[in-house]
Order: sequence, then structure tokens, then C-alpha cells
Amino acid sequence: MKIIMLGAPGAGKGTQAKQIAEKYSIPHISTGDIFRANIRNNTELGKKAKEFMDQGLLVPDELTCDLVMDRIAEDDCKNGFVLDGFPRTIPQAEALDAALAKTGQKMEYAIDVDVADENIVNRMGGRRACLNCGATYHIVTIPTKQEGICDKCGNPVVLRDDDKPETVQKRLTVYHEQTQPLIEYYKKQGILKSVDGSQPMEKVFSDIVASLA
Ligand code: ADP
Ligand code: ADP
Ligand code: ZN
Repeated sequence: MKIIMLGAPGAGKGTQAKQIAEKYSIPHISTGDIFRANIRNNTELGKKAKEFMDQGLLVPDELTCDLVMDRIAEDDCKNGFVLDGFPRTIPQAEALDAALAKTGQKMEYAIDVDVADENIVNRMGGRRACLNCGATYHIVTIPTKQEGICDKCGNPVVLRDDDKPETVQKRLTVYHEQTQPLIEYYKKQGILKSVDGSQPMEKVFSDIVASLA
């Protein structure tokens, strides 16, 4: 099963992608997590990516596409994968289609997790992320069991630098300009599924599962 998660920053792509990955035993591939791991390890890629991420801008396609193509060529992706946060531009989507076409494959589902901009701003302000294991929580809707501590690995959870309100606004603008056109792109391919992402997490998930049937 080859799935793309579409949606604004904070729509719940990551939250849903992790559950999909578990249910269907396929890898969860998050470009945001890959960049953040590179930043943590102080790699060349991390240094370059951070400059863009801190401003709420997209990392250039040249730094992003090859990384994903290499990842989906790995052995554990043979039965599919769920892409979270990629593609984010039309050229990225075209690069993905072209890479898969070389081995006679194509994407099967693009799930748009739809949430209005007003809700996004609240969600991002309350998001807390574990920089160690990538788990995400929300101070109101999905709290950690112990305040400020990741349930999964016991490290502190923090407000991401790019989740501060001024950066969130910029990311939303970038989303509407550069990423939203992908909805039409995948609709034309006949693989778009839309779910109402403003519902509780469990309901969003069951709607997604129903749309994959
Ligand atoms: P969110 O889950 O809030 O949408 P991500 O973790 O997916 O955020 O991404 C964080 C940041 O990493 C983005 O704002 C962007 O700067 C960068 N990034 C992630 N994926 C991509 C991509 N496919 N293309 C360009 N930049 C990306
Ligand atoms: P994305 O990957 O699209 O940026 P996340 O999955 O990180 O989004 O979710 C953004 C924030 O909203 C997180 O704090 C998460 O815990 C919370 N969240 C996710 N899904 C829901 C939901 N259905 N209802 C309420 N809050 C949610
Ligand atoms: Zn953790």
C-alpha cells in the first residue's frame, strides 16, 4: 500500500500516518523527522535545512527529492510506505511519479486531512514534540501522561521552534501557495481521498481506514 498524507501543517498528518504505518505494517516516512534528525546530528544537510525551516519556508526540492527516492528504494518499502510531509510541491510530486514509474509502480492513495486555518493555529500552539523519538502530543487534546515528558521514551517534550505563532502563519501561507495545488494533482490521477481532520483523532483514523478499503 503506497500512501501520501496531504494537509496543512498541523492538520494531523503525522498523528494519522503513525497509526496507518502500524496497522498496515509499512514504514512511516516523514521528511520533517528526517530533517530534524539531521539537525540534531549537525550534518551538512541539517545545517542547510534548518535555515529554511526556521523561517517557515520549504527546504529546496534539490535537497529533498533524492533523500526520499533513496529511502523508498530500501528493502522495507517493498510492500508500500506512508509518506508524511512529502511531496509538498508539484515538482516533488512529479519527481516521485517519475522515480516510481522506472520500476512500473505508482502511488495508490493521497489522503487529504482537511482542517480550516483557524483550527490549525490552536493546534500548533498546543503541539509538543519529543525531539528524541518524534512522538507528538497536544497539551489539551492529546496530553502526555506525565506533564512535559514523552510517554514513549521519557525525554522532555518541547514546543518546536517553527511552531511559534509567527512562523506558523508563514507556513500556512507557504502551504496554500505551494502544497495545496497537489490536491488537484492527485484528484486528476483519481487517487485523492479527503477526510475531515477536525474530528477527534480516532474518528479521523476510522474514516481514513474506510477510504482505503
Ligand atoms: P508539519 O508536520 O508541521 O507539517 P513537518 O515536520 O512535516 O511539519 O516539516 C517541518 C518543516 O520541514 C517544514 O516546514 C519544511 O521547512 C521542512 N520540510 C518537511 N518536508 C518537506 C518537503 N517535502 N519539502 C520541503 N520542505 C520540507
Ligand atoms: P502534522 O503532521 O500534519 O503537522 P500533527 O499530527 O503533528 O500534524 O498534529 C498537530 C497537532 O494537533 C499535534 O499537537 C497533535 O497532537 C494534534 N492533533 C492531531 N490530530 C488531532 C485531532 N484529530 N484532534 C485534535 N488534535 C489533534
Ligand atoms: Zn520520545
